[in-house]
Amino acid sequence: MRPQAEPSKLLDRGGRPTVRELLSSLVFNPVDGTISLNGDRIVVQRAAVGSELRRELIRLLGAEEAKVFLIRLGFLTGQADARFVRTRWPHLDIGDAFTAGTRMHTFSGVVRVETVYNDFDFRKGRFAAEFLWHDSVEASHFRNPHHAAEPMCWTQIGYASGYATEFFNTLVIYKEIECAAQGHRHCRVVGKPASAWGASDPEVIFFRERVVGQQEITPSVSVARTHIAHSHLSELDGVLLRPVKDLLDRFAMMGLPVLVTGAAGTGRSRAACYLHRLGHSSPPEPRHVIGSDVDVALCSEIAQPGKQSRRGPIPKTVIIDEAQAIPVEMQSRLSRAIEDGILLGGPRVIALADSVDAFFGLSPALWSVLSPLHVRMPSFVERRQDCLNLAGIMVRLLASRMGIDLPEFDETATSVIAQTQWRGNLRQLRGVLTSVLALHQGGSITGEQIEVQLAKWASGPTPNDDASQGLGRQMLELMERNKVSLSDMERAVYQAAVDLADGNLSAAARLLGLSRPQLAYRLGS
Ligand SMILES: [Zn+2]
Repeated sequence: MRPQAEPSKLLDRGGRPTVRELLSSLVFNPVDGTISLNGDRIVVQRAAVGSELRRELIRLLGAEEAKVFLIRLGFLTGQADARFVRTRWPHLDIGDAFTAGTRMHTFSGVVRVETVYNDFDFRKGRFAAEFLWHDSVEASHFRNPHHAAEPMCWTQIGYASGYATEFFNTLVIYKEIECAAQGHRHCRVVGKPASAWGASDPEVIFFRERVVGQQEITPSVSVARTHIAHSHLSELDGVLLRPVKDLLDRFAMMGLPVLVTGAAGTGRSRAACYLHRLGHSSPPEPRHVIGSDVDVALCSEIAQPGKQSRRGPIPKTVIIDEAQAIPVEMQSRLSRAIEDGILLGGPRVIALADSVDAFFGLSPALWSVLSPLHVRMPSFVERRQDCLNLAGIMVRLLASRMGIDLPEFDETATSVIAQTQWRGNLRQLRGVLTSVLALHQGGSITGEQIEVQLAKWASGPTPNDDASQGLGRQMLELMERNKVSLSDMERAVYQAAVDLADGNLSAAARLLGLSRPQLAYRLGS
């Protein structure tokens, strides 16, 4: 669009995008007859259409309901524009992105905005602003001699409130204290959070009851999402995630990184997928990445939402499995990327790790970004009362998958299941039951059948817990026999790793699941 020539610097004032930049991203495509603003479709219509719409609404609904309708329409538009600015100019400083609202408002031709003061601090949630609105299109419907009795810029008040509400994530309300429709030279509006106006303020009550209404920002979204997630929660997940479900429900709404720890087979991935589904109403699949595959490309996807990646559309959630294996040289880049992503609306990062000891493989910066929302999945040894229930669900799932009739557990089977320490968690339970079903000849499943498969499992590759217990015993024996101390032993392990890595400290640290500085410190101490 070509702005009319004007000598002042109005077009280039304020942060980016400036009005001139906004106008230059407004494109008419003669091929398909569309107008777009930075990719989003725009429609041009005569201002008089708005007057006619308002007149018709008042005739059909009465003035009060028409006012509710138009404020609400403006509010939703303001929220949508705020989201548009954040996603289409993802690199903007949040203050620039916020004030882009006044510039969008200006170049939309609805009103010319003059800032009296605009005082905000996103970290403290502080906001207070006053603007003058010149030549408001809504006020122009009320020209002399029929001045209006009250302020009339309903859609615009709704728009400003919706835009700021979206940015501050709390209800912000603008009041029009003077309006050109009343005969003033211009309209004057003042904005503050609802909490600053006070709960008993009539406008706050009006906005809460009529504008935001049943869709009060946070609660309604969480109610809707919880409902959706319940319908997605499988029978297995229902039992598997029960000990942590309240925590997951709580964290899902927070949109921040979550760290899920626990041994393999305790349901870490299922917890991550549940968080993902709960956080989005119709989510695309989350992206799964193994910690050792974290690279520069992934970091920029996390930090720069909206930018199309080489791997396809940006996912809403990135699940990083084996977080302890994230390469040491990627850790500070990843922690910065996650911090940027939190500010700019990047995908949510959910990290899975074996245990809280994963800290010793993560840099303090990455740990501090990932760990505030922490979910620990209990092992099956800690929740033995659930194992029989889980076995029942698992055997139903497996029988249906394997295309065989569902057998029952006899009494001996239930007692074996209840008394077994399922150290390999769900993986062991599934493995044992799969073998039992594969060999089952009809009738009930017996305890003996389960014990046969448990014995095979025990003699096969042992799960981590057993392996480390065995190793622990061997080390104790060595220490006793050779009279070496624990710190000698530790130092020997660090030195062995350095030798194995040909003296390369970074590579040795990776072998040990440590950061390079951590290893250097331990070798030096
Ligand atoms: Zn006005």
